[in-house]
Amino acid sequence: MKEDSGCGGSEGAPCNKDRTEADALSRNLGRIGRKILVLSGKGGVGKSTVAVNIAVALALEGKRVGLLDADIHGPSVPQLLNLGGVSTTVSEGVIKPVAFGENLKVMSIGFLLPDADSPVIWRGPMKIGLIRQFLKDVEWGDLDFLVIDSPPGTGDEPLSVCQMIPDAAGAVIVTTPQKISVIDVRKSIQFCRRLNYKILGVVENMSGFACPKCGEVTDIFSEGGGEEMAASMGVPFLGKIPIDPEVVRAGDEGRPFLFFFSETATGRVFRKVIDPILNL
Ligand code: ADP
Repeated sequence: MKEDSGCGGSEGAPCNKDRTEADALSRNLGRIGRKILVLSGKGGVGKSTVAVNIAVALALEGKRVGLLDADIHGPSVPQLLNLGGVSTTVSEGVIKPVAFGENLKVMSIGFLLPDADSPVIWRGPMKIGLIRQFLKDVEWGDLDFLVIDSPPGTGDEPLSVCQMIPDAAGAVIVTTPQKISVIDVRKSIQFCRRLNYKILGVVENMSGFACPKCGEVTDIFSEGGGEEMAASMGVPFLGKIPIDPEVVRAGDEGRPFLFFFSETATGRVFRKVIDPILNL
């Protein structure tokens, strides 16, 4: 007699194992209120910085928040929250998220790697399997919000994240003002439209330079590209965040900007940009 693999259905029908996994995924996600994806057309535009600060701002408001770093190749979240070197436990298929303060639970592949220098050399299906585990097996518990720092671009991984969370509140798209980034963001917008994903808005990051002495913003290379693009594509524009050396320093020191610098000029601008998301 053949051993039952759990996949005895007719061709094309989901097997028992797939059904059980899908049920577990929707049970875990069903305990979470609003899911927000943070996307970008390419890396290095400040996607993780925006994702971390949205999550921290929500937690500071007393919301129960999860932050999932789904960027498997470039997990920046542990560094941005000074959680580098922290590891997590996996027991009987349940992954414990790492706490940051009282209201924020964080998960990243960075907590599972032996050290920060270890590269993840995996093919697509393994990465997608891990993202699924992060949504299905992490003990998120009851949350008001889950913020997902998505892998950049419009490939396999962001596509899978979106498909695994069909009921998301929507996506925040981060760009820099330069044409080279804006071109890719147009693709991110089309990507969301094809998937029927609501676009909560575009953030133009690194838009002008905020003088550390007087706070005046100078357009050192360009400004407004994201705003023009949002208008031409008919999506909401959330605002511009300037280049500010304090943002870099905060990131390098693992001190989330809005936790420590919310009363600076850039802090106030940053807060205004993400306010509509906090009030979802
Ligand atoms: P991504 O997730 O898009 O790859 P990150 O959020 O990791 O980008 O940011 C890349 C670098 O840019 C980090 O060092 C971060 O501190 C810095 N950065 C992000 N936004 C700003 C800003 N507004 N001003 C100055 N530096 C910034």
